[in-house]
Amino acid sequence: MVDVRSQYLKIKDEVDSGIQEVIESCAFINGPKVKEFQKSLEDYLNVKHVIPVANGTDALQIALMTLGLKPGDEVIVPAFTYVATAEVIALLQLIPVMVDVDPNTFNLTGDIVEQAITEKTKAIVPVHLYGQCADMENILKVSKKYNIPVIEDNAQSIGATYTFSDGKQIKSGAIGDIGCTSFYPSKNLGAYGDGGAMYCNNDELAQQIRMIANHGQKKRYYHELVGCNSRLDSIQAAILIIKLKHLDTYNNARGLVASAYDSAFAEIEALQIPERFESSSHVFHQYTLRVKNGKRDELKEHLNSLGVPSMIYYPVPLYKQNAFNNYNDASFSLTVTELLSNEVISLPIHSEMKDEHLNYIISAVQKFF
Ligand SMILES: *Cc1c(COP(=O)(O)O)cnc(C)c1O
Repeated sequence: MVDVRSQYLKIKDEVDSGIQEVIESCAFINGPKVKEFQKSLEDYLNVKHVIPVANGTDALQIALMTLGLKPGDEVIVPAFTYVATAEVIALLQLIPVMVDVDPNTFNLTGDIVEQAITEKTKAIVPVHLYGQCADMENILKVSKKYNIPVIEDNAQSIGATYTFSDGKQIKSGAIGDIGCTSFYPSKNLGAYGDGGAMYCNNDELAQQIRMIANHGQKKRYYHELVGCNSRLDSIQAAILIIKLKHLDTYNNARGLVASAYDSAFAEIEALQIPERFESSSHVFHQYTLRVKNGKRDELKEHLNSLGVPSMIYYPVPLYKQNAFNNYNDASFSLTVTELLSNEVISLPIHSEMKDEHLNYIISAVQKFF
């Protein structure tokens, strides 16, 4: 699905010496590389504060902790997402209120969010799934109207740009109150291990985030609240400094693969190519088709038999997962989420795709239809 190795070989010398530098300096924890990466990511995103953390799941958890939510508070989350988004809500004894998504963008809309608001709603967590922002302008309107903060799950969309109707442009993740991202190796900005970051424009929130991620302390050994230990390590930071410089190039290369897939599949009636949401650019963390003739699983098997990898993100709606069956009746069902879990299939996409591979994948799909 990805080609992390070819990407590494192109920047090998720089990466190897960055890693070596950290080892020589022995500044493994919170070293200068972490600060440097923090600064470059703040510049890239045009955001006031970046707080590096250990992974994307921690980022989401710390964001919820920062808002000071109480057990029983409701958090609105799409049912069609990776488990991490809802898991941290449940872990903190908050109630994940799982809502449906738009069938074409796979993301939340302002209307969907507004319909789920109750007196207990204390946070909204839009996920920018597959590389494209959710309907942030309308979600922010709902957020303002009911005074409920927005935490963006930006794990799949780093580098995407959102354009508001007045022309203002903001990077994905820097739009709501707190943005969360992951540097898991296969993400668009991937480390060589785990990593994550949070971002926000509010000084007080940033200070609170830093404190929670650091055992609830501002001053060493004086703990103001129960926090956790979540840090990006210096070696990963050294790698990310280098890779961040190439992020736009990587994302553009993904875009070219997506365009080639689009033109090859647009005429196949049983396939729906990914819709571009007019307000957001798309960084194609995944290239995800909808197979509308009921043969998604057969297509997957066919591709597999030809040596073409494909993935189903995600095969089971969150409310059908055993881990979450406390929150809804067994009969609970969301139409679009159900439909998508039966129809979606993601094809290989990454920055190092060779024409030969691209053409092979395309003809493998075409053969099936
Ligand atoms: C990858 C991912 C996460 C979690 O990130 P980790 O770094 O693996 O903890 C959260 N949400 C979404 C949508 C993701 O794709």
